[in-house]
Formats: sequence, C-alpha cells, structure tokens
Amino acid sequence: MNIIFVAPPAAGKGTISSLLASNYDYKHISTGDLIRNEIKTGSKLGTELQEVINKGELVSDELITEMLKKELTKKENQKFILDGYPRNVEQAKVLTTLFTKLKINDYIVLYLEVEKEIAQKRALGRIVCQNCGSTYNKYFSECQPQKEGICDKCQGILISRTDDNEKTFNKRFDTYLKVTQPVLDYYKKLNKLKIIDSNQTAFTALESIKRILGVEND
Ligand code: ADP
Repeated sequence: MNIIFVAPPAAGKGTISSLLASNYDYKHISTGDLIRNEIKTGSKLGTELQEVINKGELVSDELITEMLKKELTKKENQKFILDGYPRNVEQAKVLTTLFTKLKINDYIVLYLEVEKEIAQKRALGRIVCQNCGSTYNKYFSECQPQKEGICDKCQGILISRTDDNEKTFNKRFDTYLKVTQPVLDYYKKLNKLKIIDSNQTAFTALESIKRILGVEND
C-alpha cells in the first residue's frame, strides 16, 4: 500500500518515512528534499526556492507538481511514500487526477498529529547531514549523533536547516493550519484518512503505522 503523509512542520514525516523506506522497501519521495537538492545545485531556480522556504511560505503549485510528477512517473512499480505533498487542497485534487492517470488507487493518508510546542522543539533542535541528509536532534537523547556535530552514517558535518529558526517555524506552522489542514477533510471524505499520534517517539508512531499496514510482526 502506498502512503501519503500529511502533517504540521517537523511532526516527524521525514524520520518516519526514512524508517519505513529502509525497512519495508518504499521509495521515499520528499518534496522538501527535492527542493533542497535543487538549492544545492546553486541554480537560479534554487536561489528563488531558498528565498521562498526561508520565509516559511509554500513554493508555487505548478513548480512543485512538476517536480513531483517526474519522481512519480519514474518510480517503476515500487511502493512509495509521499512526504510533503499535497500541502493544500488544490494539490490534493491534482494528485487524485494524477493517480487516476497512473492507475494508482492503493494508498492511505497518514496524518501525524503533534502539538505545536513539541513540533517546535523538534524543528529548533533538528540537525541534518550536509552530505547524506540523515536527520538528528540536539534535544532528544534517542536522536543524537554518537559524535557531536558528525553524522554516524557517513561522517559528514551536521548543520541546522535555514528554515528551522523560531520565526520561520511559526510562519510554517501558520501556513500549515491555514492551507494544509483542510487537506485532512478532503481525504476523510474519500475514506482514506488515518490519524497517528506523533507526540511520542518516531518508533512509537512507527508501531501504530505498522499495525495499520498489517506488518506489525515484521
Ligand atoms: P517540514 O520539515 O516543515 O515538513 P519540508 O522539508 O517538507 O518541511 O518542506 C520544506 C519547505 O519546502 C516548506 O516549508 C515549503 O516551503 C516547501 N515545500 C515542500 N513541499 C511543498 C509543497 N508540496 N508545496 C509547496 N511548497 C512545498
């Protein structure tokens, strides 16, 4: 079954997606990563994207949908996790149309529910490997790297994301409440929505997700 995550910023989408992708052979499609990869290339488009995400705003629907389409059409029969799309009702409708075209109907939408204070602590403590993109957290012992500032997996340098400061986080959270939350109603009506408590550790949330997917004994 394919998975779509809908959640406030820093709710744990990325962490849980990586755990699922490595243990259950999912292709992880993160629109945030697609954007950050474009920024890394230093292109003109990348500079424009950087400005938008630093303000805590959403990238244009056209652009992000184009990036997503490329990834979805090259997925070649592997199950996928969609992390970061749809972020508004318009994108949800576009996705429904795209799924019909690609004959994808086996999917579930997982809403990671989290309190704002917890999400904020996760965002402000988040550190990401500059090299491989693995995520750690300064504030949670189970998420700290073995050596401070260094990635356990590839020895790369860990840095904070430019949009993980308090001002941008608050703006991202507001954007979530205003434009992303209505997506939940859209999927509830389609009978696709499941709610996951993401106030606990990622491992606890993962256990609930495994039960929903029917793979709890794996
Ligand atoms: P978070 O950790 O807040 O969930 P992401 O890494 O998913 O953030 O995304 C980072 C930023 O990229 C967002 O704040 C937004 O500006 C942009 N972005 C990601 N996905 C989308 C999308 N589907 N539509 C518009 N903008 C997006």
